[in-house]
Amino acid sequence: MRKYSDYNEWYLEVIEKAALSDKRYPIKGMNVWTPYGWKIMSFIDSCIKKELESTDHDEVLFPLLIPETEFRKEKEHIKGFDTEVYWVTHAGLDPLDVKLVIRPTSETAMYPIFSLWIRSHQDLPLKIFQIVNTFRYETKQTRPFIRVREIHFFESHTCHATEEEAQCQIEEDLEILRKIASQLCMPYYLFTRTEWDKFPGAHYTVGIDTVMPNHKILQLGSVHHYRTNFSIPYNITYEDENGEHKYVHQTTYGMSERLIGATISVHGDDKGLCLPPTIAPFQIVIIPIPGKDTKNDVIKKSEEVLLRLQKAKYRVKLDNRNIRPGNKYFDWEIKGVPLRLEIGIRDIDNNVVTFVRRDNGEKGTILLNSLESGIDSVLKEIIKSMDEKAWKFQREAIMSITATNDIPTDTESTKLKIYRFGWCGDSTCGHEFERICNIKILGTPYFPEDYKGKCIICGKETTTPAYAARTM
Ligand code: ZN
Repeated sequence: MRKYSDYNEWYLEVIEKAALSDKRYPIKGMNVWTPYGWKIMSFIDSCIKKELESTDHDEVLFPLLIPETEFRKEKEHIKGFDTEVYWVTHAGLDPLDVKLVIRPTSETAMYPIFSLWIRSHQDLPLKIFQIVNTFRYETKQTRPFIRVREIHFFESHTCHATEEEAQCQIEEDLEILRKIASQLCMPYYLFTRTEWDKFPGAHYTVGIDTVMPNHKILQLGSVHHYRTNFSIPYNITYEDENGEHKYVHQTTYGMSERLIGATISVHGDDKGLCLPPTIAPFQIVIIPIPGKDTKNDVIKKSEEVLLRLQKAKYRVKLDNRNIRPGNKYFDWEIKGVPLRLEIGIRDIDNNVVTFVRRDNGEKGTILLNSLESGIDSVLKEIIKSMDEKAWKFQREAIMSITATNDIPTDTESTKLKIYRFGWCGDSTCGHEFERICNIKILGTPYFPEDYKGKCIICGKETTTPAYAARTM
């Protein structure tokens, strides 16, 4: 397996060997969630749920089907989705009077109902989320977790009295993102998308991007400020303190199963998957190393360690299959289990367990007397170094350029980078840049950066850098 030299092949191989997804389902781009893959996704979902609930978002569940009449209310939104939605056209044998869209996202399902839920300023802010599957007819080549037609994702939708309050929500969303990402040891960039690349119907869009081993960008999710762009067509109004009727200001925030695709890609290596302890179905695997006459002692001690760690609420597995320890190491390395404990007679004599870290192969011992606290500090150390390593790779992927010919024209070039350059902000220059370089402008940094330079196209002085990259 060759992560850096042949990322595309490597990615599919890891998914297959670690049994994360089954792509043999007879609809392209609709893969089967296998037990191991679904367990990881469930840990990610619960981490998302925890952060949203702790910031007063309530979970809801809206229907999957949306009447065409509601779907067509916001013009820009439709332009963005018309070519990629699935339709339900019949009920039994009868054609439907009003066709039904299978949700590609839920604005048009939720907002007619929001207009009934919200009456006065006391109903605001409204903050809800749902974790559901959504459907988009993807025409490009599909890839498990990264480009699929049935997408598992969370979407949060909020309504506020004023534009400023909606803006505060965006800041809260980015803080929620920071917490979720730190659990996944996942680095990310935040870019305000260009006008021509923002979400259909949005006032502005912040893209959440991460870099893949081939230096292409994977968008993990996005945050949108809608202002009143949706509340006007859907008539979502409230009565303020003075009895005046006003339109609400809205935001949305969503991230998808691409978080798994990114976890595989960012942390995996040539031995397979490498999971952060926070989302690993098993955080620890215990491998007994029996000698000729020590089998009983070793098994007994392994079971004792298992019980202690289960009691301490770790997700732990004792592998007592009747195969060689080396084969067991191999299997659990592919599965990405963060920590392996080995217990042999010498460990028992010394009153220790031997540990091997999955992330960097580091080996050491933990005293049995302080097993739980020893494990705790090793797992914390793993999270810290996985996080640092991933952020370092992302930082080093950036290259500052002053001329368009610094970008290789070969779309699969191994010298590809994330490019930072001056841009006057004019859309003519932006389009010209994308055309010449055959590359996408990711946007300008959401949090302003110190910059002084010239627009890469027209040469005008600018204090704003833009970033561009090829995308997955
Ligand atoms: Zn310019």
